[in-house]
Amino acid sequence: MSLIKLAIFGSTGSIGTQALEILSEKEDLFEIEILSANNNFKKLAVQANRFRPNVLILGNEEHRKDFLKLLDYKPEFLSFGPQALEDTASDADYDVLLNSLVGFAGFMSTYRALSRNKKVALANKESLVVGGSILTELTAFKEGKLIPVDSEHSAMLQCLTGESRDDIRKIVITASGGPFRDYTVQQMKSIEVKDALNHPNWDMGAKITIDSSTMMNKGLEIIEAKWLFELPVEKIEPIIHPQSIIHSIVEFVDGSSKAQLGPPDMKVPILYALTYPGRTPFPNHTLDYSRPMNLEFYPVNFEKFPCLQLAIDAAKEGGGAPAILNAANEIAVERFLNKEIRYIDIPKIIESSLNGIEISKELTPSALQTIDKETRDFAYSLLK
Ligand code: MN
Repeated sequence: MSLIKLAIFGSTGSIGTQALEILSEKEDLFEIEILSANNNFKKLAVQANRFRPNVLILGNEEHRKDFLKLLDYKPEFLSFGPQALEDTASDADYDVLLNSLVGFAGFMSTYRALSRNKKVALANKESLVVGGSILTELTAFKEGKLIPVDSEHSAMLQCLTGESRDDIRKIVITASGGPFRDYTVQQMKSIEVKDALNHPNWDMGAKITIDSSTMMNKGLEIIEAKWLFELPVEKIEPIIHPQSIIHSIVEFVDGSSKAQLGPPDMKVPILYALTYPGRTPFPNHTLDYSRPMNLEFYPVNFEKFPCLQLAIDAAKEGGGAPAILNAANEIAVERFLNKEIRYIDIPKIIESSLNGIEISKELTPSALQTIDKETRDFAYSLLK
């Protein structure tokens, strides 16, 4: 069997790093063909020297010289700059793209890869949140080539394997509730950056950690699930499950439910996406059922997590609304991390953006880029 040629976009981030840890033990199945990073050229060089991919992409051109000095081999192609990812997704030789870019910046790579009928393991949820109506029209999507890496969606996919989509009554998407699960509405008003960056169960990048704390992450995931499994948002129910052991539940029309369980570890969904529909042995740690274990479930307090309600409303509105929601959230989170705005200003910026920008119905990749740019400028200008 020939090796599967893998492109990893965002290889120095949390998902990319964990993927390479897995792949260093799966060199009989996969060959790393392409690696990319934006700023972290030192880590990219370490990864490149270890896996020797033919193609390397570095987004930030300023580090070009320093990066080249660190390489101990000569790759066939080196690309720099903001356009390099999209061009590589369009032109390079690979079988599977693991897209672990952060934010809307990842959309065009997903779009280009699927347009070429490549398989995409998707850790960039924003691709579907913003451009779901475009991606789901592509042949590759209809052929099942867009595989989620997000743990909840991987759980849904695993529960749905062997089932008919018509037999879904609803999907219960679990949420840890993040660090502020037990906070009062009053306490939410004085949250600082360091509090929000401290997630109880998952160790992730800064953007998604903040999104988990506001529950915007769950909102984005509801929109992601709506497109992936072609369901109305009303059929996707968020539930707080503090232990993060059940990663999601599918309830079927006959009243039966299936859940997927495991310790919170992204290596399981990463590996599943790369080997889907099959599985491959890997020594991931598992749950110990011989010890007492609690699985708790609580309803979501929407008053405390307005970002989640905004996301659900944007999904119902459709058209460009999720694109505005996503762009405004990216800017609001960035500004919160830079200590320019308060924590409770994050939903205010998103709501003002949704109200202040015209929501177009016709979506194309270029229309999405226009909405994204316009929203970012708008969201930057608020609360100055
Ligand atoms: Mn998730």
